[in-house]
Amino acid sequence: MATEMALTEVAAGVYELRLPIPFEDGLVNVFVFIEGEEADLLDCGMNSDESVELIHRALRRLGASHLRRLVVTHIHPDHYGAAGTLAGEGLADLYIHRLEVPLVHPRYVELEHLVKEVRTYLLVNGVPPDEAEVLSNSQRALSQVVKTAEPAVQLDGAEVIDMGEHRLRVEWTPGHSPGHICLYEASTGLLFAGDHMLPELSPNIGLHPQSTPDPLHEYLDGLRRLAGYRPKLVLPAHGRPFSDAGSRVETLTRHHHRRLDQVMEIVGREEKTGWRVALDLWGPRANLYEKRLALQEGLAHLQALAVDGRLIKSVTPSSVRWRSPSTQV
Ligand SMILES: [Zn+2]
Ligand SMILES: [Zn+2]
Repeated sequence: MATEMALTEVAAGVYELRLPIPFEDGLVNVFVFIEGEEADLLDCGMNSDESVELIHRALRRLGASHLRRLVVTHIHPDHYGAAGTLAGEGLADLYIHRLEVPLVHPRYVELEHLVKEVRTYLLVNGVPPDEAEVLSNSQRALSQVVKTAEPAVQLDGAEVIDMGEHRLRVEWTPGHSPGHICLYEASTGLLFAGDHMLPELSPNIGLHPQSTPDPLHEYLDGLRRLAGYRPKLVLPAHGRPFSDAGSRVETLTRHHHRRLDQVMEIVGREEKTGWRVALDLWGPRANLYEKRLALQEGLAHLQALAVDGRLIKSVTPSSVRWRSPSTQV
């Protein structure tokens, strides 16, 4: 039985296609831009037969015979997974921010080095050795739904790209991923937000071996900049389109500021590891993937507090610890 296709015109010549994924709310939104028989695609879902077939069916239904370019917001499997099936030699041109490019190979092709690096990172941040072993291996599963492709264009941000009949500007918005990009069209007020600005979820902002060194500050700066554009319509990668970017950004920012205060309280009068802080914040989590996300998210907040001078971060080869400036050690 063919999967029902969720294809909706969201702006002139721009179609939202919802593709199945096995996490978050079960769907990722990708966008098809049509110009005559040419199509451009923003994000491409996972590399599963079902998902790729939905893309081909959508293109046929829209009368497109040729996929011209594939732009990806970032390299997470739900956005980049099918890149190698749709783009590369003889296929569409892949456009991707250059800070994402070096992350691809260690994450999806030759995992051994990164698995080792992640294990060390987990151990120094206080994860017990047996859990560190399991957690560091948990990313192997993701490489199975990703087929990588060579980029045709590496983006810095601020480029203007033709997508269908629209001209969109690349907005570099690091935080959720180092080279995460949004696309914005000033003349129509359309903002394609990827995972940067979601209507219901607060995107995971984590400090880990493949993140930038201070992702939370970067993330919040990016939100503020985009809200300043006063977009008319935000088209997120998960959830439904929405119009009030300003109040969404306010909610997301308040959420992180509250969490920063919570983390300060948890650190309290005792020097702690990131793992202790994450456990105190979220309690024990059964799901492995969630545990790792919780640690990464906790560390991003701890790091932002250290950068702001609200916490002291001390490191040795075997541990990373955080304490309040008033705590004596
Ligand atoms: Zn993502
Ligand atoms: Zn996503």
